[in-house]
Amino acid sequence: MKLVELLKIGTVALTEAEIDNAAYDSRALLKYIFDLDETGLILNGNSEADLEKAEEYLSLIRKRTEHYPLQYIMHSTGFMDYLFYVDENVLIPRSDTEILVEEVLKYLNKEHKDRPVRLLDMCTGSGCIGISCFLERKEKGVTDDVTLADISEGALSVAGRNARELGADVKLVRSDIYDTLNNYLIIDNVESPLDNNDGKRQLNDANAKGDSADMFDVIVSNPPYIRSDVIPTLMEEVKDYEPVIALDGDRDGLKFYRRIIGEAPKHLRSGGAIYLEIGFDQYEDTRKLLVDAGFNDIKMFKDLAGLDRVVCGILK
Ligand code: GLN
Repeated sequence: MKLVELLKIGTVALTEAEIDNAAYDSRALLKYIFDLDETGLILNGNSEADLEKAEEYLSLIRKRTEHYPLQYIMHSTGFMDYLFYVDENVLIPRSDTEILVEEVLKYLNKEHKDRPVRLLDMCTGSGCIGISCFLERKEKGVTDDVTLADISEGALSVAGRNARELGADVKLVRSDIYDTLNNYLIIDNVESPLDNNDGKRQLNDANAKGDSADMFDVIVSNPPYIRSDVIPTLMEEVKDYEPVIALDGDRDGLKFYRRIIGEAPKHLRSGGAIYLEIGFDQYEDTRKLLVDAGFNDIKMFKDLAGLDRVVCGILK
């Protein structure tokens, strides 16, 4: 069978399964399996497909008809200027989250133009936020001290892999929000982050509570913020396959904002900034939480769809 014929079968199958962008997905999977770029596909469209690869392609198409996300199949997604490895341990980075990163970078490049900062990416997942910040600032000649924190070991291992592959010299911390930040295992050699103990060192003493080494200049987070009762209504790709722990913000969606904002003053230098991604209807609630925790200069930024998406504040 020719490659173009396979492509057609893939597109028809995905269309019948009501997959959005069926033609795009079947093409992306074909290029992935046959290791072709767009030009290669055009040039080789009439070539006979290798039988084994054709079967592999059709099995991935079947997987996609079950609404299994394309990015998990291809283990990759673009975010900012980088390609991130993803698997079922992490939320697939969204383009909306790029707004958060862009606002953080604007702030850093204005307020800390030539000065490295300590930045904490809380609930890091794939590491897309903290790693992008690190890499973008490095391009400008500033090497920030970036810590990626998550409760999930699976997520940390993905974040570590991304840091290694993208050349970001960041630290990884396993912590339930801030609970074990003071007594963390820091993985400063990002090779094999969680498989062995090499490269890990205890920082208990240096990071004893109140020690300035434990304080950050900026906290950034895209925490789980979807109300529990909304989760069953999400797209199948999301509700059936993405980690619920990365989505579920409990009954009112605000559980993690309460902790991340409420406890921030213990981990943020006075004058430091917090930047958070929020849901379209969460600005008022998060603004109140920020005011109560002692933040001012509170601002909100909208996403490309015109919805409230990012909130930030400066600690008094
Ligand atoms: N920080 C990651 C992201 O923005 C993961 C977020 C999460 O798991 N809620 O994609």
